[in-house]
Amino acid sequence: MQQHLERRGLRTTQPRLRLLQFFAQTEGHFTPEDIAERFRLAGEPIPIATLYQNLRVFSEHGLIGEVVGHGGELRYDTNLTPHSHLRCNRCGKLIDIVLNLSDLRPHDQGHDWQITGARVELQGLCPVCQVATATKPTPTL
Ligand SMILES: [Zn+2]
Ligand SMILES: [Zn+2]
Repeated sequence: MQQHLERRGLRTTQPRLRLLQFFAQTEGHFTPEDIAERFRLAGEPIPIATLYQNLRVFSEHGLIGEVVGHGGELRYDTNLTPHSHLRCNRCGKLIDIVLNLSDLRPHDQGHDWQITGARVELQGLCPVCQVATATKPTPTL
């Protein structure tokens, strides 16, 4: 963990080490508030300003990813392998998916480009929301 930071010329501090550990052990997409809450519940609170600052530094150094959440909020992504996202339009659930680059070839403009990466966000209804919308009681007279 410590080497992770030192290799990037980052000072090793307790909050940084704890944050790195959190990201290594946790999967998902978190707002700074989510992360603050987790640490608070674990009995090891990190001041929110420190947290914001460290998250920004980690992101700049490629130690964590960024993704924009359902309400336009910035979330930090613990999954650093290239991936795309699938988002539920109803509850905002966000999951990681892997798309095949050859499926994403532009048909028209850009077809002659060499595609080296993609950041795609697909939208839809998650299984829970499909059930919820299907069983919504229909008004009766
Ligand atoms: Zn949903
Ligand atoms: Zn992700």
